[in-house]
Amino acid sequence: MNNGKKYQQDLLEGILSADENISLMEVCGTHTMAIAKSGLRQILPPHIKLLSGPGCPVCVTSQGDIDAIIELVQNEDIILVTFGDMMRVPGTRSSLQEERSQGSDVRVAYSPLDALRIARENPQKEVIFLGIGFETTTPAVGLTVQQAREEGVKNFSVFSVHKMVPPALELIFSDPEIQVDGLICPGHVSAVIGVEPYEILAQKYNRPCVITGFETLDILEGIYMLIKQKQKRQARAEIQYRRVVKPEGNPVAREVIARFFEAVPARWRGLGVIPDSGLKLRDEYADLDARKKFNITEMEEVPIKGCACGEVLMGKIMPAECPLFGRGCTPLQPVGPCMVSHEGSCAAYYRFTPAK
Ligand code: SF4
Repeated sequence: MNNGKKYQQDLLEGILSADENISLMEVCGTHTMAIAKSGLRQILPPHIKLLSGPGCPVCVTSQGDIDAIIELVQNEDIILVTFGDMMRVPGTRSSLQEERSQGSDVRVAYSPLDALRIARENPQKEVIFLGIGFETTTPAVGLTVQQAREEGVKNFSVFSVHKMVPPALELIFSDPEIQVDGLICPGHVSAVIGVEPYEILAQKYNRPCVITGFETLDILEGIYMLIKQKQKRQARAEIQYRRVVKPEGNPVAREVIARFFEAVPARWRGLGVIPDSGLKLRDEYADLDARKKFNITEMEEVPIKGCACGEVLMGKIMPAECPLFGRGCTPLQPVGPCMVSHEGSCAAYYRFTPAK
């Protein structure tokens, strides 16, 4: 047995030797996918539970925001540019994919700079970039705003649905209905925000947090570190993913976010409005803010009938406990966003959980 396999075996034995009940939540959609793909959940004993959390940005985009964007793209003078995962996310009556099939100009891009290029190429149209993601993706959008300003591109704007992770984690820890003993914290987001926000949460709620990488060995080690803390009655923030995450995070990326965006209350699908969890462009960039430019007011949130995405995203139920899972709702015909995004918990469970 090589060293890696031996270490993996030791970690697994350490985890399996835990004898008290423990529920851990993986916050990040990439972890959800990695855990589902590795089959880890199936080899853990029933008293060690892995719950999935609200860390898929597509899944938590509010239906009201999707509805507002859908209303915008019905204007034939508008080109909307977004990431591929957003296309099939259901709004109240439609999705961007359906709107495109009806003739709206909705384009998929890999970077906000693609949207700026499209704006330069189409000066007679208004080009809106749908800015989605957590602290990891926001700096690139801020820098694109700066470039648009410097180049004087007047027909470009950003519809920001960017969100920040720590306020959602605070909501989870403070909800007495959610039984979470510790958090498997996101690697990519933490590379920007560092360890401090988790230290504050760990101390305030007396529950451990471990910033974890995405390989199976990383995840096993992260779970082991959380279990060890629980056994020692500790509640600290630790970094397992040391090869990528520095304790101080990335101050340059945080400065870029702070330069272009400010924190505002934001509605998360299924979770409600979370104070200071959204990022809106600062007033000095109002001319590049699509919400201001097109006078968009918040739309009412109409729940999707039968969809339990909110409870899944809060770790209150497992995806298979939704009555529509695998019946009315599948990756080919998704009802809720958790089945649409490739990082959504329902899609991950559907793809990788063996049928009983
Ligand atoms: Fe929503 Fe479908 Fe998941 Fe149910 S199975 S929670 S409807 S995405």
